Amino acid sequence: MKLIKKESIPVSITNKPGAGKFLLALGLAGAMGAPVAIAGVTTKQIENDQASTGDVLHYGMGPRAQRFSPLTKINKKTVAKLVPAWAFSLGGEKQRGQESQPLVYDGKIFITGSYSRMWAVDEKTGAEIWQYDHRLPDGIMPCCDVVNRGAALYGDLVLFATLDAKIVALSQETGKVVWSQKVGDYKAGYSATAAPLIVKGMVVTGISGGEFGAVGKVEARDAKTGKLIWSRPTVEGHMGYLNGKENGISGTLNATWPGETWKYGGAATWLGGTYDPDVNLIFFGTGNPAPWNWHTRPGDNLFSASTVAINPETGKIVWHYQSTPNEAWDFDGVNELVPFDMKKNGKTIKAAAKADRNGFFYVLNRENGNLISANPFVSKVTWASGIDLKTGRPIETDNRPRNPADSDDGMKGEHVFAAPSFLGGKNWMPMAYSQSSKMFYVPSNEWGMDIWNEPITYKKGAAYMGAGFTISPLYDDHIGVLRAIDPTTGKIKWEHENPAPLWGGVLATAGNLVFTGNPEGYLMALDDSTGEVLWQFQTGSGIVSSPVTWESGGEQYVAVLSGWGGAVPLWGGDVAKYVKHLNQGGSLWVFKLSK
Ligand code: CA
Ligand code: CA
Repeated sequence: MKLIKKESIPVSITNKPGAGKFLLALGLAGAMGAPVAIAGVTTKQIENDQASTGDVLHYGMGPRAQRFSPLTKINKKTVAKLVPAWAFSLGGEKQRGQESQPLVYDGKIFITGSYSRMWAVDEKTGAEIWQYDHRLPDGIMPCCDVVNRGAALYGDLVLFATLDAKIVALSQETGKVVWSQKVGDYKAGYSATAAPLIVKGMVVTGISGGEFGAVGKVEARDAKTGKLIWSRPTVEGHMGYLNGKENGISGTLNATWPGETWKYGGAATWLGGTYDPDVNLIFFGTGNPAPWNWHTRPGDNLFSASTVAINPETGKIVWHYQSTPNEAWDFDGVNELVPFDMKKNGKTIKAAAKADRNGFFYVLNRENGNLISANPFVSKVTWASGIDLKTGRPIETDNRPRNPADSDDGMKGEHVFAAPSFLGGKNWMPMAYSQSSKMFYVPSNEWGMDIWNEPITYKKGAAYMGAGFTISPLYDDHIGVLRAIDPTTGKIKWEHENPAPLWGGVLATAGNLVFTGNPEGYLMALDDSTGEVLWQFQTGSGIVSSPVTWESGGEQYVAVLSGWGGAVPLWGGDVAKYVKHLNQGGSLWVFKLSK
């Protein structure tokens, strides 16, 4: 056996795929004097994910979720030569919406699929390494298709959330279950679809179920073992926990929820969160207060339709910003808060941006939650004329659905027309922030709705809404609009219209490209300064997932899942004519430049 000099041993794990194996080989050779424990994916690597171009370790291309890559080989000049390297079919009869973002590590691509499935695929060949099918019970209640948005990596594990409200950790090598933990009661309407967040060795997750009166919460578990570390409810009045002990209720009981209304108060944390190591805060958005009928719950209803910032060590809410107080239109405030450093008037502000379902693009100070600016990012917002920058509160326009108690039979309140629709100016689909152009690229939709309120009482496992609606497009020729937004001014630099609603994520690169897919099936690359489509490829089914990019063996790759579905075809109303011809599918596409 050849001896390796100590000086030649790498002291830090590189970000190149296979680095863990290299250390293993060194350890077995005894070169370091003692066996080297295999760390696998570390906290340091995850926090550095955006800069490390040889892998994609985390949802959002890093825990800040800027969805930006410094890679430049694929750029405005070369993108015309982008061709498929291979495609992988998800197979089976379970062809529903594929919203997963791929992860790339150690020669493997990890993807999740509809009905709580996961695969490891060979990065070079597209051959399947293993498949995991989660055994789902009868009676799960996902509101908006049986989707999953992606996995998380930590150590030698790959973790994901399932439709029966569990977190499951698998071996990256074999796909075998290492641990599994229940995070909610699926019989009460809890489910889970978001990609987990990894913070300092903890797996941090939220919960879905706001349409069933599920109470939102953020929970942190030891990523290696699944052991619960802390739990923080996002409805005022509920008790938090830390290391098995009570850790104070969230907010103040009955301060913003009268009587018993807080008990089934919604505020589901269904889209997961982001983390900024710089200020050491976890950011989670929260969904609608339950039920939708706002007449039943006078008050601001904290912490619904908000962003909450949580300290990862204490499990306590450090600050919150509520975008829609006493929310009345299903404007879930779950949209991702994306930390970025904003240069303005010669100063650098620790900022963060959020394109809210309510139609406003907010820029906050991420250290304290103070509002910096808020501007509409869709063409029509009816419910508020603006946001008061002094108080941070919306300036409402008397656009709330009327009280059913005031109707003749007490069963249906007078409707109003409101825009955006309940599906939002932006829904789940993640935006990107470019370090090169300093712009946000926001997938948005132009639609409105008639909405009315009805009486409702809570019943476990039943829809808890008390509202009805009819959704309709605002324009004849398009619903989707990808927009480039300058966060320093809130101004829109360019727009790209799309006939069907946009429902997929965005990727920005230092090659001055913006990648996104559409329900019509095209993965597109746009010029980040003009919005011109420079390249597109038909993937065979609609794209409602988030593209990623990385490099391997000197080549830059782009990957995306194709598979039409998600909430739009289920709730579509008059929107149906834009999407009824779209075919379902399920495949992973990987692209590279032709020689
Ligand atoms: Ca990386
Ligand atoms: Ca909702």
